[in-house]
Amino acid sequence: ATPVSVMVGTGKAAELGVLFKSGDALEGLQAAQVVALDKTGTLTRGRPELTDLSVLPGFARADVLRLVASAEQDSEHPIARAVVNAAQAEGLPLTATDSSQAVPGFGLDAVVGGMRVQVGADRYMAQLGLDAASFGTQAAQLGDEGKTPLYVALDGALAAILAVADPIKDGSREAVAALHRQGLKVAMITGDNARTAQAIARQLGIDRVQAEVLPGDKAKAVRALQEGGQKVAFVGDGINDAPALAQADVGLAIGTGTDVAVETADVVLMSGDLRGVPNAVALSRSTLRNIR
Ligand code: ADP
Ligand code: MG
Repeated sequence: ATPVSVMVGTGKAAELGVLFKSGDALEGLQAAQVVALDKTGTLTRGRPELTDLSVLPGFARADVLRLVASAEQDSEHPIARAVVNAAQAEGLPLTATDSSQAVPGFGLDAVVGGMRVQVGADRYMAQLGLDAASFGTQAAQLGDEGKTPLYVALDGALAAILAVADPIKDGSREAVAALHRQGLKVAMITGDNARTAQAIARQLGIDRVQAEVLPGDKAKAVRALQEGGQKVAFVGDGINDAPALAQADVGLAIGTGTDVAVETADVVLMSGDLRGVPNAVALSRSTLRNIR
């Protein structure tokens, strides 16, 4: 591209709230065939709320919520905030943790008042050797509703299932439809459970889902999409999206996302609105067309 047309293109983009960091980024995006997006915080608001909590016989709901919220209070994970907010809304007092450790991609392992509190995905319970089959039907239903089911173990015994729901952002559905009209395939890459991811993908009209991807494996998931020579643009916001943003042919970060995502990306969407993605594609195509 000639420098002048690239400058005009990047200038127009900036007016639309899309920051191309280089002329290469502007050129790269028009060649993309697949747009892959992170789910939490990218397609969804990233502010989940607690929607369900069922305890097994012998456990009291309020006690379980208080213990889980106490365990989660030091965690930065969006799920943690959902649980803490719910406990506070019910006026439940939190206890300081004796210890608290994230198990990335699986859940959280904490000790609260001498009680071991482990909370996380079904694969976390499997890793702990716990059989969560008694909640199987309920978990499947929660997933089909687009909610994320989570299990709670207290001192090594299964105690409860809870669910959080993270609303889809305004503009996400339209953005996917616009990308389709532009002839692009749209994929989702997420650490969330498969049923939940499928339900959200269905609501958004997304073609392809890779779920239960461990935090370190998002770049590998992008590489899988690139196999066969397809050019892939990846859109994300989180710390664990940075390797995928770097691996993609073009990385696009949500401007309100984490610093490392914004720094790693080739393109920054200043607002969280995903309609910036098809807008950026359209601009990159028209700029390059003007040159040829
Ligand atoms: P994502 O950001 O796509 O949800 P993560 O790798 O952060 O992916 O988390 C994957 C899954 O691990 C979550 O969907 C949840 O089931 C579980 N998990 C992670 N952190 C926590 C936490 N602090 N509390 C409960 N569950 C968690
Ligand atoms: Mg995210």
